[in-house]
Amino acid sequence: MGTLQLEVVTPDKTVVSTQVEMAVCPGVEGEFGVLPQHVSLLSALKVGALRYRVDGKDQYVFISGGFADVNDNVLSVLAESAEQAADIDAARAEAARERAEKRLAEKSEELDQRRAEAALQRALSRLEVARLG
Ligand code: ATP
Repeated sequence: MGTLQLEVVTPDKTVVSTQVEMAVCPGVEGEFGVLPQHVSLLSALKVGALRYRVDGKDQYVFISGGFADVNDNVLSVLAESAEQAADIDAARAEAARERAEKRLAEKSEELDQRRAEAALQRALSRLEVARLG
């Protein structure tokens, strides 16, 4: 069935650059799969796990939301931050989770609450990807 090129890029670095058999992205309106020779698309992504398959084996990368662009058999994912499962520091994510939960328990301003909720989502998702990877 062939492959497509997956590029996961942040402002700092390229996190993934490899040929994959398929990928599943966390779209804001739900997960969507991308197979080789997929039609062009542009989609916003939410915080979550991006799954991709190489040599029949699933791999996971955390992404903090961003955009996915499919064109000419290349899936480009642009994210503010992204880490391969093996590069996730679970202790750091656990500390971030505790900090965020503490902030949510304090009845602070709405903006702080929203920031804490977003931080909690990132932490939980990193812990999930670290576990899957
Ligand atoms: P923290 O509060 O621990 O900094 P955060 O969600 O605020 O977490 P981000 O702003 O998403 O962190 O990322 C900042 C930088 O730190 C990015 O380069 C990101 O890849 C890296 N990073 C954040 N958390 C982890 C982690 N648990 N393991 C590995 N790298 C991480």
